[in-house]
Amino acid sequence: MGGKSRVGTVTGRIEAPKRNALLRVLDWREVEQSQPSEVLQSQAERCMGCGVPFCHNGCPLGNDIPDWNAAVALDEWQEAAARLHATNNFPEFTGKTCPAPCEPACVRTLTDDAVTIRQIERSLAERAWSEGWIQPLPATERTGRSVGIVGSGPAGMAAAQQLARAGHDVVVYERDAHVGGLLRYGIPDFKLAKSDIDRRVQQLEAESVRFEMGVNVGSDVSLAELQQRHDAVLLATGAQKQRRLDVPGADLQGVVGALDYLRHANRLVSGESVESGDLYAVNKRVVILGGGDTGADCLGTALRQGASQVQHFHYKPAPPSARTEDMPWPWWPMILRDSSSHEEGGERGWSLVARGFEGEGGQLKAMRLERVQWTLGADGRSRMESVPGSLHSVDVDLALIAVGFVGVEPIDGADIARDDRGRIAADARSFETETPGIWACGDARRGASLVVWAIREGRDAAEAIDRRLRK
Ligand SMILES: Cc1cc2nc3c(=O)[nH]c(=O)nc-3n(C[C@H](O)[C@H](O)[C@H](O)COP(=O)(O)OP(=O)(O)OC[C@H]3O[C@@H](n4cnc5c(N)ncnc54)[C@H](O)[C@@H]3O)c2cc1C
Repeated sequence: MGGKSRVGTVTGRIEAPKRNALLRVLDWREVEQSQPSEVLQSQAERCMGCGVPFCHNGCPLGNDIPDWNAAVALDEWQEAAARLHATNNFPEFTGKTCPAPCEPACVRTLTDDAVTIRQIERSLAERAWSEGWIQPLPATERTGRSVGIVGSGPAGMAAAQQLARAGHDVVVYERDAHVGGLLRYGIPDFKLAKSDIDRRVQQLEAESVRFEMGVNVGSDVSLAELQQRHDAVLLATGAQKQRRLDVPGADLQGVVGALDYLRHANRLVSGESVESGDLYAVNKRVVILGGGDTGADCLGTALRQGASQVQHFHYKPAPPSARTEDMPWPWWPMILRDSSSHEEGGERGWSLVARGFEGEGGQLKAMRLERVQWTLGADGRSRMESVPGSLHSVDVDLALIAVGFVGVEPIDGADIARDDRGRIAADARSFETETPGIWACGDARRGASLVVWAIREGRDAAEAIDRRLRK
């Protein structure tokens, strides 16, 4: 501890280096690279002149960012790692995948560029692992109460860890072969290495969490049976029901849900057995419809699989490159963001709407696209209109539909109330559903969201359940 403080040495924002784009598409290893300690400290120090910080307000986990940055700047890395873990169970997951809403809320952005908060978090978590500072923290006293958690994504994992550390017996039921939910089967390895999930699973197991894999609740075991086995049941089942495109030809072979495609690709990379090669993009002309993380992940995956061409179309116009008056600081700005996949290749098109797919013998061959324009109506809402004469055809072998998610996949045989957006109806503070003894959290409760929100929901739901079980 101490000795190498860099306080007083101020520099500008220094982005983390990424591996060469031409070379990195030849493998699945992570794109982003670490920075030397001195660079991280100089970045942490840029945080120190802040009067009233807003970053932790921007962070869904309420991470104490100025606190751990102060410790990093003072070369007190172990202290910094402890402060980071005080609010976040898995900072390497967020350090590698989070869009970092803390950064646009950084006070420095009023006059300068934000502190590289996410990069410091990522490197700090990595250092904590390599130094052996992250150890299992088993409960010293058992409560004799038990909780069943359905779903092993980041929400289920965070809830399991918090409940086990509080002394409850925790069993996580997961229908997939491996733990992680969308961290494992949605997000590709080039963003998050799956070994990161495995080492957390080992930590959770050492803290007494039990995982029952390959168990589909609803068919392999009923929810009612889980209620018999446990004092509380938490549904962390995600919101993986994909929105389909309602246009002619959407049922052709080659028109595929983005998550089906990514799930197949991730299983292939991990060496799990997969079905036919239909979903592999090699030598195919690929079109991705829809933006967001899912669309960008499809792009990076198709490029790595050797697609002959990848086009990425959005139905909205390109967002502005900087904040506008209607998105004031410190709120999250809806500006154009390029993911690492966009640096690697592919072509991007805006204001283009799919009007249908065409095929031969049931196999996709082309799609019809129409250009649209967006205008602001008198009621302040934007309206989409077709541009006359702009309907055209594009040759395509594989169309990946990344147009969002429409809520949870229901559990067979269980009557759990959902809201009008297909999410499990559960109270925002108590996380209780309308069925006594059943709680819900993560994407299942808030709808498709972010890893950082899933961890937050898992922690909060665990706290609510713990309070109830101790009553
Ligand atoms: C392709 C893609 C990329 C993304 N990239 C990012 C990103 O870069 N950054 C970011 O912050 N967020 C990203 N997200 C969003 C993020 O992954 C999710 O918000 C987060 O994983 C939600 O966590 P969760 O635990 O609530 O649900 P999930 O991760 O969906 O996990 C739910 C788990 O429940 C299991 N399950 C469901 N039903 C049953 C049942 N009946 N029985 C047993 N098990 C069941 C599922 O198999 C799954 O493992 C991405 C999402 C996608 C689809």
